[in-house]
Parts: sequence; C-alpha cells; structure tokens
Amino acid sequence: MCGIVGYLGRRDCTDVLMDGLEKLEYRGYDSAGIAVFEENNSIKTVKTRGKLTAMKEKLTVEGKPLGHCGIGHTRWATHGEPSDVNSHPHSNGRVTIVHNGIIENYAELKEFLTDKGYKFLSQTDSEVVACLLDYYYSERNPLRAITETLKELRGSYALGILFKDFPDRVYAARRGSPLIVGVGEDESFIESDIPAFLKYTKNYAILEDDEIVCLDNNGEHFFDVHGTPIQKEIQTAEWDVEQAQKCGYPHFMLKEIHEQPEVVKKTIDSIVKDGVPDFSGIGLTDDMIRGFHRVFIVACGTAMHAGIVGRYAIEKLARLPVTVEIASEFRYMDPIVGEGDLVIVVSQSGETADTKAGLELAKTRGAKTLAIVNVKYSAIAREADMCINTLAGPEIAVASTKAYSVQIASLYLLAFRFAYARGIILEDELKRLTAQLYKTPKAIQDAIDQSSQCQFIASQLINTETLFFIGRGFDYALSLEGSLKLKEITYIHSEAYAAGELKHGTISLIEQNIPVITVATQKHILEKTISNMEEVKARGAYIIALCRKGTAFAGKTVDLKLELDFGDIDDMFVPLPTVCALQLIAYYSSVLRGNDPDKPRNLAKSVTTE
Ligand code: GLU
Repeated sequence: MCGIVGYLGRRDCTDVLMDGLEKLEYRGYDSAGIAVFEENNSIKTVKTRGKLTAMKEKLTVEGKPLGHCGIGHTRWATHGEPSDVNSHPHSNGRVTIVHNGIIENYAELKEFLTDKGYKFLSQTDSEVVACLLDYYYSERNPLRAITETLKELRGSYALGILFKDFPDRVYAARRGSPLIVGVGEDESFIESDIPAFLKYTKNYAILEDDEIVCLDNNGEHFFDVHGTPIQKEIQTAEWDVEQAQKCGYPHFMLKEIHEQPEVVKKTIDSIVKDGVPDFSGIGLTDDMIRGFHRVFIVACGTAMHAGIVGRYAIEKLARLPVTVEIASEFRYMDPIVGEGDLVIVVSQSGETADTKAGLELAKTRGAKTLAIVNVKYSAIAREADMCINTLAGPEIAVASTKAYSVQIASLYLLAFRFAYARGIILEDELKRLTAQLYKTPKAIQDAIDQSSQCQFIASQLINTETLFFIGRGFDYALSLEGSLKLKEITYIHSEAYAAGELKHGTISLIEQNIPVITVATQKHILEKTISNMEEVKARGAYIIALCRKGTAFAGKTVDLKLELDFGDIDDMFVPLPTVCALQLIAYYSSVLRGNDPDKPRNLAKSVTTE
C-alpha cells in the first residue's frame, strides 16, 4: 500500500521523486506529496489530495522545488480522510517525514506529545512520528532521535525522514512495511518497490525490520535498531525496465493478461527437471512430503482463490487433506496446526500482512512452511522454510492476473510431486501430468485469442448492476476468481456460488435478465451444472456459458456462449486458460464503463496493513 521514495544525488530531485511515485502508482493511493531541500537549506513541501496529475498541477502553481535531496509519498489513507493536510510529507519541529503503515499507539503518543506542547495539524497517525523524532532530537544527532523514536512505536511502518539541520541526508527505517535502498553511482534512493528506480540503478539492498539507513554524499550507511553500524549485501535486480512498462498496451492489466502463456511456461520450466517437478532445490524432498498429514493453504484475495484450485488438485491427485484458509481469519482463529502439517502461504507481493502473520503463526506452532511468492526479496519469501519463486515478473496492475496463473501452475506441480512421493502415481503418470501442464501455455494463448468474444460479452454487461457466477469443482474456484476480478475493476455487484448451492437461498435473487455467468468446463459434472443453469434460466436469468469447444446445450438454455479450445488437456488444467477469458471479460467491462482497470478505486496492490 502506498509508496515511499527518497533521493540524494546530482539529478533534479523533484523529477526523480515524481518519476518514482509514478512507478509506484500501481500500489493504490489517494493523495501524494514531496518534500525537497532547496538551495537555502529550507525544505519545500508540495502535497495534495488526489492523483499525481493533481500533484503535477500543484507543482506548476506553487513552483517546483529545486534541489537534490528529498522524499516523496503516495498515501492510502488509514487515519484521517484523504485531504491536502492529511497528505504526506508531514513536518513538525525540525523533522519532515513520509510514512507507510499504521502507528497503532498513535493516540497515546499524541496525548504525550500534546502535553509536551506539540500542536498537530493533521488527523493522521503518522504525524506523531515527526513530533516524536523532533522530541528526541538533540545535539544534532539524528540517528539517536530515530533509535529513541522507534523504541516507542507500535504497529507497522516504513519511514523516509529529513532533518532540517542536514540538507544532504535522507534517513529511512522500517518495520513490517517494505523498503528498498537503491544504490547508484554517486546517488542513492529509498523506495517501496524496485520498479521505482529501475531506470537509474539495478543495485539494491533490502532494509529489514528494525534497520535504519542514512543516505549521504558518501553513500548508504546501515544501522541496527540500536544505531550500531551493520553491513548489508548489495543485490542486483533481475527485472528489466521494459517489464515495468506498458510496452504499447493501453493498460498494464491487458499487458499482464497477455504475458500469461510466457510466464506460466517460465515458471513450469523453473520447477521441472528431466520432465518431472523437482522441489529438492528448495529443500522439499519426497521423504519430507511423506511426513505431511495435512496441508493448509493460507492466503488472501486472488491468491486464496489460487489456493482453492490447488486444494482440488492436491486432494484429487495426492489424497492428502487440504484446507484453504483466509489469512486474516487463520491468524486469529487459534488454528489446530503444528508438527506434521505443511502450511503453504501464497502471496504475489510476499508482503501481505495477514498472510505473513499466518506464516509466522504456523512457524511458531511447529508446522513446516512453504511460500509461493512472486517477489523474491519479499519478507514472506525470506521468512518461510521453503520458497517457490514464481516468475510472473513485476505485476503492476492492482487486479492480479498473471500472478494467479503462475501460482496455480506451481500448485499443480506440487500436487503431482505429492502424489508421486506418496506412492499414488508412478513415474509414468508423473511425466504425463507434467507434459499435460506444458500444454497449457498454448491453451492460454488460444483463450487470449478470443479477446473479441470476451469484449462482446463485456458489451452485453454494460447496463448490468448485479450478476452471478456459478460453477462446480474447478469451475467453482474459477467462478470465485472471475467474480472477484469483475468486482475489483468494474464495481458491478457480483457473487460467485457453487452451482449446486444456489437453490439453498441465493436463487431468490434471480430476476428477469440477471446475467448468470456459468463456468461449465468440467465434463464429469457437466450434466449437473446444466441442471443448475436450467434452474436459473427458468427464473429469467440471462445465461452466459464458458465451456469447452463443442459443448452442446439443449434448446434455449444458453443466451451467450464462449467456447474455448483447450485441445486435449485434462479438465483439471482448464482453469489456466479459462481464467484468462474471465480476466478479459472483467477488463473490457471495466474499460467500457470508463474505469481505469489498472487503478481501481479503494484498492491497493500490496496490502501491508491488516
Ligand atoms: N497511516 C498513514 C495515514 O493514514 C499512512 C497510510 C499509508 O500507508 O499511506 O496517513
């Protein structure tokens, strides 16, 4: 959530900060601001409610800060409405800060500081950090002010800090929210995510929880929470600048949908050795697999939906019980989890706060943990016992598409290996299943090639205010994801139901012409699904069916049909191509409604608050 940037170097600081904030726009925000040291060592702050376009206008009106050292922020409001005053940076006394996260004990700190004579200008929790830093600042010692302040803060934070007395320094600290330090030639950066400064440098260091960094004219200096200097490893990003650009597509979401054949293949390639999935490289051996009695898949949102596909695949093939847990529930429900259990946590960003907490809980209870994440340097990747690093590349659009596909590809491969390790399938079958999965990139491409059909379906939904998705088994898992995608970016009210469940209540909502998108790809339960379609059709629903090429429906059951050519792939793998059609329907519906599918209202990409 939100983005933090900071810069010290020879370039025009405002340009670098604005450029960085633009690259972080995908994270979701409602206000923006920057603070830059100007020539006379005074700090000029420009901030506003709204998007970066509003910020650019304000920079023209108020004048662009000119300097070489500064910090910037895009805010996703948690405390206090989105407004000019609540926007970051916040200054109080001799300190200016930007903050990402939540200061949980802000109320008591505010009371303490008010008693000391501090006046607060905003309603944010963040402003207490500026005041507290000022309170502890003495003898021109910024580091001590920071270490003293951090002792008092509860909650999560990534902080960018300027001290008025030090016009050539940027300080930063973190706990719970991501912060990366970009290491350039004679210039340094802080950033919430690597794409922000990829065009200036590929070298970076990850700031860990409770670490502090000071950027000055001699480079980057790292300290632990007590202010003791520490050494950090400098790493090199594998991502290219192009990967973080739209490359001719009108939106990142469309680009990312189109990348799916390639990234799914890449992810499968990275796990398969000699024609079979091999996880020994990440420490997951067949012996260890045989020791698991149960699997939990813990995740949020789209990643949780990927988990449901994973559950069906693992249970079906490996006959191992799996439950899928919503991370925000799992972490507080005192789950019965421990030794002999495998907890798989799935997260695109690897920073999802609830999923991370679920992982930490599972570890303390003695379960083995396996992360499936798309960001190699993320907290979840580093904390889990084992990690599958999916290769979707940077996912910029808020609504997840390609990350979902690589997550389910990884879960299928786990299911195959589990089945083999547990002696349920032999090597021949393991090879056959792997070869089947290798056929999905082509099927995905064929589904994407049906774009104009998806666009037509979207055009039929233009006046729709409410709709339903139904399906059974894997089709139910897909219905959940299709419905979520549509809600996220079109704001149409939509619900997904297991097709057989509708008549236990929800069917009362079906009225004349309410669209019901039916996912009907699974042959062995097709007749059952068709009966459910008939039930809603009889009550006036407008039925849109997604099915295998050649599927016949009797009479007038279906109003609109999207036939997908899956070739000869098993039903189990059709979620991969089918989800692309659902993503495209959501994408075109969003565009037709005049929304920006990349930046849906109220949503943030990397949900680092609980
Ligand atoms: N809690 C802070 C606020 O509401 C920071 C939110 C953010 O992470 O953008 O201003």
